[in-house]
Amino acid sequence: MKKLLLLGLLFTAFNIQAQDIYIQCGKLIDTKNGKVLANKTIIVSGKTIKSIEEGFINPINPSDKIVDLKTKTVMPGWIDMHVHLESQTSQTEYLEEFTLNDADIAYNAEGFGKATLMAGFTTVRDLGGSGVNVSLRNAINAGKVVGPRIFTAEKALASTGGHADPTNGYRKDFMGNPGPKEGVVNSVEDARQAVRQRYKNGADWIKITATGGVLSVAKSAGNPQFTQEEIEAIVSTAKDYGMKVAAHAHGDEGMRRAILGGVKTIEHGTEMSDATMDLMIKNNCYLVPTITAGKTVEENAKKPNYYPAIVVPKALWIGPKIQGTFAKAYKKGVPIAFGTDAGVFQHGLNAREFVYMTEAGMPVMKALQAATITNAMLLDMDKQIGSIEPGFLADIIATDDDPTTNITTVNNVAFVMKDGVVYKQ
Ligand SMILES: [Zn+2]
Repeated sequence: MKKLLLLGLLFTAFNIQAQDIYIQCGKLIDTKNGKVLANKTIIVSGKTIKSIEEGFINPINPSDKIVDLKTKTVMPGWIDMHVHLESQTSQTEYLEEFTLNDADIAYNAEGFGKATLMAGFTTVRDLGGSGVNVSLRNAINAGKVVGPRIFTAEKALASTGGHADPTNGYRKDFMGNPGPKEGVVNSVEDARQAVRQRYKNGADWIKITATGGVLSVAKSAGNPQFTQEEIEAIVSTAKDYGMKVAAHAHGDEGMRRAILGGVKTIEHGTEMSDATMDLMIKNNCYLVPTITAGKTVEENAKKPNYYPAIVVPKALWIGPKIQGTFAKAYKKGVPIAFGTDAGVFQHGLNAREFVYMTEAGMPVMKALQAATITNAMLLDMDKQIGSIEPGFLADIIATDDDPTTNITTVNNVAFVMKDGVVYKQ
């Protein structure tokens, strides 16, 4: 009896392992070559893609599964290089800093992660929260909760009063004096310590707020907030620990310093001058546009009392500019990644960015490549994600229609697979 049970268990285990998934694709977007292919079958085995076959292939093994996407357009799972999974905009967001415990943040973040995955984003880079994002990444990787693959900056780095100083706008006795441990840096020594602390806390990337920002309770959205030496210390220390640096920047001088200091991505880039665009090209630094965030802050700033009064003029100034800067930068040849700043708007609406990018003159295929092969390369994952190829992780999504001829279909993701597991069908 025991032997039979063991045999049964072995058989089940064997069966699970042997079950391949045959995804029959009406259209298949080849992101690497920028082509839309027709009538293909992707064979997925376990976590990875085994092969891509011509035509619609049916499995021989009866335990294998067919996924019929003959009327859909299939492509690699999208990657968003700028999200904040710990929070989401609302009129009470500023108050939540005083009312939510980490456990509350964690439950929220799980929901936001799920919404992101269901929208077709199988991988994200989280550019800053309190550190719950590290726990969320670990829980998702361990299969405890459902969400996208996360690369996280843990807590963003700022200088005192800077965009990511966690106690901006607080009553003085609540302000305290956050330092490198909390991500606040005021010297080269602090800069090094803050990066090492992020490493210790489990960060994959480093994020700095190189200039002021829209949503912090502080006056300037664009002033430089780090010295050149501090930025260089951050970048070189991050490099020692195998991490790259992303810089939030609206004002031109702050982003110029960040690029010279060696950051890999500039987030927003609102007031980028021609000279700075040239510097981006020269240093192979990528612009992460976040047009969706720009549009949202502008919209919300027009609603009475949505944001604190000090935020409103900044939102009305920065918000409408982002798409125009992106259009100019793309035309000039600045390297473009794909990122939205989800959290500043509702999680799960990330794909709107594709629509705004194409509105600004970027061809649909180029926008899809930014969100797949380009982002995969920036994450050092270009041998695993961003393309549908044998040996790659099976991160596969499908839209109702072909986005290269009907861009709004990016908002209708009909199928989501991550690591070979179907999450939406
Ligand atoms: Zn952000």
